[in-house]
Amino acid sequence: MATRISLAQRFRNHETKLHDDHKVLVEVAEILKKEYKKAERRLEKNRAQQKIITALGSSWKDQDPGKYSDAYFLLDRNGKRAVAKELLPPEIEICGSQEQWSDYLRELRFQHRYEMVPPFYSVINLKQAKKQRCPRCGKLALLVEHYVQTCDSDVYDEWLKELIIICTHCGQMDTVKKQSKDARF
Ligand SMILES: [Zn+2]
Repeated sequence: MATRISLAQRFRNHETKLHDDHKVLVEVAEILKKEYKKAERRLEKNRAQQKIITALGSSWKDQDPGKYSDAYFLLDRNGKRAVAKELLPPEIEICGSQEQWSDYLRELRFQHRYEMVPPFYSVINLKQAKKQRCPRCGKLALLVEHYVQTCDSDVYDEWLKELIIICTHCGQMDTVKKQSKDARF
């Protein structure tokens, strides 16, 4: 005679299956949550890199870089702040002499942003920008200076300067040097 599973047994089996299904769902949800967090971190990093790349093309315009927003600069091979030609819109003029700069400043008057690249920045091609080996993948990556006022009060000011490696090979960013002072430096 064929074994007949009692109704109670069938119910118990069904319950066990439901319980197992639920466990699987919880595990899947945990995995998805972790993946989502990872994707969020990647996106955040991409946004931060995008912000830096945009600033690399415009921080030179600030008359007082770092005062009102984060300033980022490429460096030339001697470590001097530099502007990359590739990041400049075609209409932007590059100042050729101190005399031209003095004339420009007279015309500029009360405007707070330069529209001509000042002579105190090196103008370079991107491939000439200073690079350093990425500590994660070992490939040569862009070295960028971040400069910003981090504290502005009646009794105390603080300015931060840090060097960041931005690696386009592995997508990571690493701060390699950090200095701060109580005045611009
Ligand atoms: Zn890397």
